[in-house]
Amino acid sequence: MTYQHVFLDGTDSSLQAGKVVCVARNYYDHIKELDNPVPTEPIFFIKPFTALQPIEKKIVIPEYSDSCHHETELAVLFDKQISKATKEEAEDAIAGYGIGLDLTLRDVQQKLKDKGYPWEKAKAFDGSCPLSPFVPKEKLEDPQNTNIKLTVNGEIRQDESTRLMINKILDLIVISSAFFTYLPGDVLLTGTPAGVGRLQSGDLLELELDNKYRFQTSVK
Ligand code: ZN
Repeated sequence: MTYQHVFLDGTDSSLQAGKVVCVARNYYDHIKELDNPVPTEPIFFIKPFTALQPIEKKIVIPEYSDSCHHETELAVLFDKQISKATKEEAEDAIAGYGIGLDLTLRDVQQKLKDKGYPWEKAKAFDGSCPLSPFVPKEKLEDPQNTNIKLTVNGEIRQDESTRLMINKILDLIVISSAFFTYLPGDVLLTGTPAGVGRLQSGDLLELELDNKYRFQTSVK
């Protein structure tokens, strides 16, 4: 694997990339668009290290799917080990924020959901988590009131404030760290707002964080 966490100025972080903890259904308008029930507690799943790829690397849609969806999400990078964290410990363990894609094979996921099976084939495949370089936390003024945006071929697909998260960033860390220890280099993806949709070969994507940090990628 060639993936290495990097910061905005291009410097390699010394953090060894690890797992990615993800949360499903954390924005109401996205829950509505997929006609899912509103969860009573956050639903977590994990992508392995092998899912990570740098944002600029071309996205490869696995052959076993006809419906690879983009989910644009705020990413949180940790530089400390935390377990059963308090809010203060959660805050202190954050190294920075980025923007990433939780690529989801919607057709495969639907079949798995129908049978009550786990989602890994749909969510945790190689390259299913393209991540941008990270903005050091002191440089992002208010991560809970920032904007994440995705345009595909120049058309806005997703554009939302992180203010609309159902479970807020620090709460997500507190709750999830009761189940999983975060190690330095692990990442939390905080859920997608509405506007998820299908990607096709040749698509050009631009992701924007905080109305100023822009990253581009494309689909092979
Ligand atoms: Zn997601």
